[in-house]
Amino acid sequence: MTDAPSPYVAGAAYIDGRFMPIAEATIPITDWGYRRSDVTYDVVGVWQGSFFRLDDHVSRFRASMDAFRFKPQESDEDIRALLNRCVALAGLRDAYVAVDCLRGRPPAGMPYHPAYARNYIAAFAVPWISLLKPEVMARGAHLVVAETVRIPANSVDPRAKNFHWADLTRGQFEAHDRGADFCVLLAEDGTMTEGPGFNIFVVADGRIVTPDRGVLEGITRRSVIELCQDLDLPVEVRPVPVAELRDADEIFLSTTAGGVMPASRIDGRIMGNDRPGPISQRVHEAFWSRRAHGWHATPVDYGAAAA
Ligand code: PLP
Repeated sequence: MTDAPSPYVAGAAYIDGRFMPIAEATIPITDWGYRRSDVTYDVVGVWQGSFFRLDDHVSRFRASMDAFRFKPQESDEDIRALLNRCVALAGLRDAYVAVDCLRGRPPAGMPYHPAYARNYIAAFAVPWISLLKPEVMARGAHLVVAETVRIPANSVDPRAKNFHWADLTRGQFEAHDRGADFCVLLAEDGTMTEGPGFNIFVVADGRIVTPDRGVLEGITRRSVIELCQDLDLPVEVRPVPVAELRDADEIFLSTTAGGVMPASRIDGRIMGNDRPGPISQRVHEAFWSRRAHGWHATPVDYGAAAA
């Protein structure tokens, strides 16, 4: 007799106190998390059996929840444990691990106001997802500056991770129509912000710059800044006018779902030899080499699956 396959092979989820196989993880259609995008989230990677910067992701998630006034029942310790258990149940060595906090909705008889809703956590672990296919990573992403402007930070603060993706999605259709892989969105003042799921670094004359505002403060972005400082690569965090992006020697992107991802074209202009530039490549290699040596790693406790 052979063992039955685990019900968690495609992934494991947690919703409001219960663990389940990913295919059984659903939320009510009336939830404001769905109907109003009234939800915040975070995504942490597991690579070679370890979380990357788990505490930093959980702290950022707590800050996002506070910014949107979510109060779930779980503590930060609970969140770390439930994320670990999702990965352990799925038995994944390389995983994409998402955690959301949803508004819920006010119970019958209460005022129809978000203050009365019971907020709750939903999380899942599935096999690792990368924004770029390996062949695009090898040739470098093709980027375009979108006409669509990023939602102003004083309407929806991008530092609190959110599902208000209509601007990023509209920008992605612009990119698709123009034969590119990804869009870059500008702020209303014409400075560069970010793209759908990543921060952006511009390299010019050996200096690396990334915006100081109007963006999610990416955990990968923070890691790249630390890495550049260690490698003695000059890095500046300040407003980046679009002209610097358009005239860049190199551009690279940073995200949990892919790490450091070089670009090779901007608005149809070929940078360098139409392949990832030398500084982008150096940062990319240093990032993965440090990861392989346990940089900011928290090993997954696979024994938690049995708990
Ligand atoms: N910017 C946006 C809009 C994102 O959605 C993401 C990640 O999903 C990032 C930047 C990169 O953040 P991190 O490096 O923490 O994954």
